[in-house]
Amino acid sequence: MEYDHILIRYGEIALKGKNRRVFEDRLRRNMLPILKQFPKVELKRVYNQMYVVLNGEQYEPIIEKLKLVFGIQSMSVALRAENDVESIQKVALSALTMARKGSNQAVTFKVSARRKDKTFPTDSQQLNQLLGAHLLQNSENLSVDVHHPDIEVRVEVKSDGTYISSLQINGAGGLPVGSSGKVMLMLSGGIDSPVAGYLAMKRGVTLEAIHFHSPPYTSERAKQKVEDLTEVLAAHGGNIRLHIVPFTVIQQEIKKHVPDEYSMTIMRRMMLRIAEKIAKQRKALAIVTGESLGQVASQTVESMHTINAVTNVPILRPLISMDKLEIVDIAKQISTYDISIRPYEDCCTIFLPAHPKTKPKLDRAIAFEQSLDVDELIHDAVEQTEMLTFSAQTSKAHYEELF
Ligand code: ATP
Ligand code: MG
Repeated sequence: MEYDHILIRYGEIALKGKNRRVFEDRLRRNMLPILKQFPKVELKRVYNQMYVVLNGEQYEPIIEKLKLVFGIQSMSVALRAENDVESIQKVALSALTMARKGSNQAVTFKVSARRKDKTFPTDSQQLNQLLGAHLLQNSENLSVDVHHPDIEVRVEVKSDGTYISSLQINGAGGLPVGSSGKVMLMLSGGIDSPVAGYLAMKRGVTLEAIHFHSPPYTSERAKQKVEDLTEVLAAHGGNIRLHIVPFTVIQQEIKKHVPDEYSMTIMRRMMLRIAEKIAKQRKALAIVTGESLGQVASQTVESMHTINAVTNVPILRPLISMDKLEIVDIAKQISTYDISIRPYEDCCTIFLPAHPKTKPKLDRAIAFEQSLDVDELIHDAVEQTEMLTFSAQTSKAHYEELF
């Protein structure tokens, strides 16, 4: 026998009461382009349950993609049986055998039956007993353990058939991308900002990303790195637009006119002004950064205060309280780490002064900016911004250690 269905469980979405349908539709829309890569499969929805019907496709590559999609709590790979006890027993035995992968080693198991279709004459408790007995009679080296079984055979009797699963896989959790409005991620190519983008997406936002680059001081490869990071993030559902902003002229002007110790502060203020402008054009309601308190000179509260003063748009900082090691762990898990550590310089590292001010004063920053034509510099940078789009359908992203 081959697995023929993947049951999709939502968890948090189910808690959303009247919004449930909206969230479900959004999840469905995020899953469809991914499933398109597997031409035989269908996505079905029967009474509050979504299934992927495999129609002969292998389940592993599909699970690998769906594991990334936010809004899916868990998935069960299942076999379908007709709604009669004999068929259910037969298929349950197959599910158990498949979970044992042909091995005869001693294992413990339990059956968890749920009768969702109340017209089915055998209730859940009776089913547990009938199926448990059948499995014990027809297998070797098998015993029951209701608390910590090696294998749980889950049985759900529904009006359209009985679904039997012995293989459960955790999903990415969170909310489906597109269910919480749009935000603009400042994406640097470092380790932190992709993780910040990932965590924001997990709460259901649609992400757009903005990257500042400074050719010829930064290379094409540095830009490629950011494109690759965006592609990895896009695998979690929904398209991501990446805005690439030319930043060379602004950095040269800052270098020329601003004292070294304030150059980093002014550079960040310019970045934030541009991010705000593009966010407004694209109707994004917040800006996300990879800042974490105390990590580097620009990330003290004094510094954040002076930089933040250029905008009223909310700035979300999902990593604010995290240690670097915690951030690195997530980066590894979501496959952005290896891309982030590629050795190409980004614009900030190249122009970074030897001793940036760790407690820059707002009035001094404003005073130094008098020697720059702030409006024109911003206008020109926004004008020359290019936009690229990445989709889940084309993303080659995957999680480490899937099974
Ligand atoms: P990251 O690992 O994300 O690069 P970082 O630890 O290097 O962060 P900073 O250099 O202080 O920290 O940058 C703080 C935040 O500013 C970044 O997380 C990112 O959101 C934004 N940022 C920095 N450089 C750029 C850039 N070139 N383009 C877009 N955003 C940037
Ligand atoms: Mg960085």
